[in-house]
Amino acid sequence: MSKRDFYETLGVPRDADSDTIKKAYRKAAMKYHPDRNPDDKSAEGKFKEVGEAYSVLSDQNKRARYDRFGHAGNQGGGGFGGFGFEGGGDPFDLFKSVFGNFGGGFGGFGDDIFGRQSGGRRSQRSRRGKDLSVNLKLTLEEVAKGVEKKVKIKYQAPCKACSASGSEDGKTSQCSRCHGAGEVRHISESLFGRVVNVSACPGCNGEGTVVSSPCQSCRGTGLERDEKVVPVAVPSGVSDGNYLKMRGEGNYGARGGEAGDLVVGFQETAHEHFSRHGDDVLYDLVITYPQAVLGKSIEIPTLNGTVRLNIPAGTQSGKLFRLKGRGIPHINNVGTGDQLVRISIYVPRKVSNTAKLTLDKLDREISPDDKEKDSFFKKVKDAFGQ
Ligand SMILES: [Zn+2]
Ligand SMILES: [Zn+2]
Repeated sequence: MSKRDFYETLGVPRDADSDTIKKAYRKAAMKYHPDRNPDDKSAEGKFKEVGEAYSVLSDQNKRARYDRFGHAGNQGGGGFGGFGFEGGGDPFDLFKSVFGNFGGGFGGFGDDIFGRQSGGRRSQRSRRGKDLSVNLKLTLEEVAKGVEKKVKIKYQAPCKACSASGSEDGKTSQCSRCHGAGEVRHISESLFGRVVNVSACPGCNGEGTVVSSPCQSCRGTGLERDEKVVPVAVPSGVSDGNYLKMRGEGNYGARGGEAGDLVVGFQETAHEHFSRHGDDVLYDLVITYPQAVLGKSIEIPTLNGTVRLNIPAGTQSGKLFRLKGRGIPHINNVGTGDQLVRISIYVPRKVSNTAKLTLDKLDREISPDDKEKDSFFKKVKDAFGQ
């Protein structure tokens, strides 16, 4: 399904300034907030859509990336610090952060706009299980090719004995403290008038109901410890600090609450041959002096098998050779980095007597001519006007 353009979603021109974008978001978010549209199922989808558009367009970096790559800037498996809510946001949290300065977040709005329903939503959301995170070590070869890994995790699973209800007999009763509302209100007078603060009922954790006889195997939580193996498809080109968000693979929430996410972070292990520089990899090749002078074809490793590199005669120390496309694939873009081969010349610490004689002879043979040296330094001096 093709995604709607973020600018179109908010109804702003592509060169809109941040104020215009914020205003457009406020207007649309108020219009589509699910609590204001209890009978319109499509409102929540639209609410999320405008939230996602705003979360990208209100962030300079994300907006720049979106302008350049469009929605494709976020493809390839979710959360590379990515766009919108793939990167870990929540449309309701965003809404609160934008409207929060009206005073007291949701509660501060009072009954007329969001009233009791916000309490209902809160209770459901408060039951969402915690996110889990794991670190996945990857070799440079795995980063270059992409790899499917299996991650074993311990997590909070739904209790089998009570089917996650937390109740021994399957029954729940209304919370006596909040009479089923799931929230308690606090009304206070302030400089700006009456402020209504609504918070989750502590008697039932905002659920409105309590379990009269708790399940013995989970003591009423509806959860049990378990283990599972989660397959993780690691796309090629990831780097340290990138992560993938696996929706619903985290801990389950209490008593049938929604599962949190599993956040898989990537960590590159050191490589025996290569060091990574962005999407290029650097390989240090040490050759002998005769090889540098005479030239030589040398077999060297790459991330994908070995290749022969032709060292031409007269190669200088420090020379860089570039093997096109032998590096790491770009994650947000087409193409692949290169392998750089940096030449250094081997100087032995100890040599045999025969080798000493040969080297001495060689030295006399190839020393730059003294005259040539003089004129070279003279030229340098002249150039600096001395
Ligand atoms: Zn209660
Ligand atoms: Zn149970």
